[in-house]
Amino acid sequence: QSSLQHGKGICHFTAAQARQIERRYQLGARLHSALEQGGLSLYFQAEVRAGDGRLQAAEALLRWHDPVLGEVSPAEFIPIAEHNGLIAGLSTWVIHHALAELKKWQHAGLDIKMAINLSACDLHDITLLGRIQAALHASGVDPTRLVIELTESAVMRNPLFAARQLAALRALGVAISLDDFGTGFSSFSLLRQLPLDTLKIDRSFITDIAGDDCAAAIVRTIISLARTLRLKTVAEGVETAAQASLLTASRVDLLQGYFFGKPLAAADFLRHAVAVCGNEPT
Ligand code: C2E
Ligand code: MG
Ligand code: MG
Ligand code: MG
Repeated sequence: QSSLQHGKGICHFTAAQARQIERRYQLGARLHSALEQGGLSLYFQAEVRAGDGRLQAAEALLRWHDPVLGEVSPAEFIPIAEHNGLIAGLSTWVIHHALAELKKWQHAGLDIKMAINLSACDLHDITLLGRIQAALHASGVDPTRLVIELTESAVMRNPLFAARQLAALRALGVAISLDDFGTGFSSFSLLRQLPLDTLKIDRSFITDIAGDDCAAAIVRTIISLARTLRLKTVAEGVETAAQASLLTASRVDLLQGYFFGKPLAAADFLRHAVAVCGNEPT
């Protein structure tokens, strides 16, 4: 056990905690150089229309390969970036690269939307709108092709400010999707007031949908709530044909998950999209 002199008291922590603190520090430092030296990339995962399986959108998912640490999951490094102030730089990188990629795909005849994930810090950053406008301008992508995914908890951090930011983004033509929906604590009244376009139903509900009547009922309830609020729905984490057909019968709008495709590097995504998903070059 180690100890730190911390003000008047002494703070004890275990060897495992010490290793964790050290890893977080190391990741933060290495992430900084990855951002500057090209260690980051984007993978893209399909979102298809329920019913005909036609490709509608790609979600950009950040990947970090470190020469020493190997692949580090965004679930691990995004929270670190939120704490050490790197998140704004990371998100700007993601927005620019995702839109530049979409522009390339448009030239190749693939006309779909691009969804990107932003964090709570981005949402509460007053420079966000300007950065998104700049990236849209630089890429020449129409704003109506961009979807921004935010988790329920990101919006809940400061719902009033969030609502203003979201309204400003929507005024540009950008669509807003509430990610991991059902796991947060947003109230019905807030949902009604927030300027949203889509509810993205969390994977935890989808996983059990085929075997668990309760999970299936929750999903149907979310879908009917979304219809009442005039929002579209996306089911994330669809892994089986049974899940896909149940969701389609429940009238979900879009499906996403390993059953339709794992996240792919840009060139693979484009090749696959043009070959398999029926979006012939125009
Ligand atoms: P998310 O936005 O909810 O993304 C879905 C996650 O589930 C992705 O993990 C994806 O690879 C995975 N997934 C998709 N389909 C399936 C499936 O059928 N089965 C299973 N088991 N998993 C599936 P990933 O890429 O590791 O990302 C994890 C989370 O990290 C994301 O959750 C998102 O919250 C965050 N993230 C990823 N990229 C970015 C980014 O560029 N910026 C920010 N702020 N967050 C990001
Ligand atoms: Mg997402
Ligand atoms: Mg999600
Ligand atoms: Mg998720």
